Amino acid sequence: MTEPGLERARILDAGDPLAEFRERFLVPEGVIYLDGNSLGCLPKATPPRMEQVVREQWGRDLIRSWNTAGWVDWPARIGARIAPLIGAQPQEVIACDSTSVNLFKLIAAALGMRPGRKVVLSEPGNFPTDLYMIDGLEKQGLAERRLAPRERLAEALDDDVALLLLTHAHYKTGELFDMAELTRAAHEAGALVLWDLSHSGGALPVDLGGCGADFAVGCGYKYLNGGPGAPAYAFVAERHLSAAQQPLTGWFGHTAPFAFSDDYEAAPGIEKLLCGTPPILGLAALEVGVDLIAEIGVDRLYAKSQALSEFFRQCLSERGVELDLVSPADPAQRGSQLSFRHPEAYAICQALIARGVIGDFRDPDILRFGFAPAYLRFEDIAEAARHLAEVIDTGEWQHAEFRERAAVT
Ligand SMILES: *Cc1c(COP(=O)(O)O)cnc(C)c1O
Repeated sequence: MTEPGLERARILDAGDPLAEFRERFLVPEGVIYLDGNSLGCLPKATPPRMEQVVREQWGRDLIRSWNTAGWVDWPARIGARIAPLIGAQPQEVIACDSTSVNLFKLIAAALGMRPGRKVVLSEPGNFPTDLYMIDGLEKQGLAERRLAPRERLAEALDDDVALLLLTHAHYKTGELFDMAELTRAAHEAGALVLWDLSHSGGALPVDLGGCGADFAVGCGYKYLNGGPGAPAYAFVAERHLSAAQQPLTGWFGHTAPFAFSDDYEAAPGIEKLLCGTPPILGLAALEVGVDLIAEIGVDRLYAKSQALSEFFRQCLSERGVELDLVSPADPAQRGSQLSFRHPEAYAICQALIARGVIGDFRDPDILRFGFAPAYLRFEDIAEAARHLAEVIDTGEWQHAEFRERAAVT
């Protein structure tokens, strides 16, 4: 019997304008990778680029490469490449540190720009590091954390709020915030806004400039395919570049690091967000991923990811798989993922991984599938739906081996 889902998938793949880009990534044989929202696939151009940077720039030219290869400018140069993906100007973005560290710097900078206000407002269930970074500043006596559920954020925006900190596409559910509307509401209340773009940058169109956003951070290893622990990025709206002061005043954020002055003077531009020596190898890998995503184009990527996720839902429903969807049913309201709630989500996820279908589990009961459209085919989606149906129908997930928890889920 031919698989009807598979047949339709092949037709969709044949008409897919992004089909050619799968070849530009290393997608392991026998793997259906639905976790590009946690760690993006390896672009094939990355290993030769790394080899060149390691052998020629580090190995041969050594310390001279700070000048000859322009290492010193890479954080700002790669930031400028990321900028158009998120609706920013080139001088407003820098690639550096981790998302967590960038959150710390920008929350502190925002607090410094709103003297007399201490509240940082966010939502319960935001990504842990975002909340923990507010806690860290609270312990220093600099911030006061306030959490309000989505529907109550507007009323929680009183005149004690210095900063509204939200993740644009929720990491668990994929639900999007209306960036323009919330930015406007925050500004009306006299607060600044910091957007975490970890699940939106490189996955869907973001217009920081058009929304009037003040600050943003985002992740390099998810949809930008920069590799494990890739440098993250930070955005400061140009109008805030002179007023924003970040607390990690390391020498690379100095206006003249190589003057070796005893006294800190922040760089005038986005370089003031740097702290220590930039991780050149990580930046080299990140640049390849960013360039590839820019070449494909975020609009096309988002259109395809919506088509992939809708196709997945359709295949599941045709197979009679009834899972509790926690992502918005309207694809325009969600990022590039679908999440389902199931009491046995962990074991189901493990059983799928054993079949080569890699999604992930988020505590306590969320089964999460990311649709990174640069390298996924509709055929992969039809197959993933078949595997998921089989795992559930046969009770395969009940095997003891699928119930043991690993350290990283
Ligand atoms: C992945 C992710 C991060 C990652 O932070 P790291 O410092 O890179 O570990 C931060 N925020 C959100 C919303 C994320 O999804």
